[in-house]
Amino acid sequence: FRREMKLRLRAEQGLLAAAARLEVMASTDALTGLANRRAFVAGLDEAWRVATRTRSSLALLLLDADHFKSYNDVYGHPEGDRVLQAIAACIRRCASCPGALGVRYGGEEFALLLPDTDAHGALVAAECVRQAVLEGAITHQSTPAGVVSVSVGVAVARPKFGEAAELLVREADAALYEAKHAGRNRVAFAG
Ligand code: GH3
Ligand code: MG
Ligand code: MG
Repeated sequence: FRREMKLRLRAEQGLLAAAARLEVMASTDALTGLANRRAFVAGLDEAWRVATRTRSSLALLLLDADHFKSYNDVYGHPEGDRVLQAIAACIRRCASCPGALGVRYGGEEFALLLPDTDAHGALVAAECVRQAVLEGAITHQSTPAGVVSVSVGVAVARPKFGEAAELLVREADAALYEAKHAGRNRVAFAG
């Protein structure tokens, strides 16, 4: 009976470990190692709830590679993939606060969720990523800067009970749109 129990326990532990590995795979973007969109949805929900409860400020950065279609056209898709990895590394480096969540939002779009961060902190992080990408100095001949750059939309909220987290995403998205329209390679703040 004891041997039987031991075998069963071992099998169970194996299953638990496999489930944990699957969970990580299901929430990670394979190309960049950042969280994927699925993990972002869960992370935003949780961060929003914590910020509501603790009456703290929550910041969201939405980042988009500039003129990336033409980068692929000129240098090829595999080279484009390497650029996405380089941008992800910049995001990781600038995600300094505890609980920060760097995300590949989809395609050449990224997000950085920063708990307990106010407008000043959010803008510092946004500039950090923008500068880091520029300093990477990856040649992109068909842009004004001559190198790969990103545009960043920043939104900050002190959520109140009853408000939805999508509000923050919408605001950051509108700010990103502004940054693009103002000429790209820049940070725009919502509102
Ligand atoms: P904008 O400055 O307005 O953002 O212009 P853009 O060219 O970056 O935007 P657009 O949406 O026209 O093009 C996005 C490009 O991103 C098109 C697509 O081929 C490329 N892309 C999306 N996902 C990937 C990927 O996983 N790898 C590579 N290499 N390219 C990708
Ligand atoms: Mg885009
Ligand atoms: Mg783009």
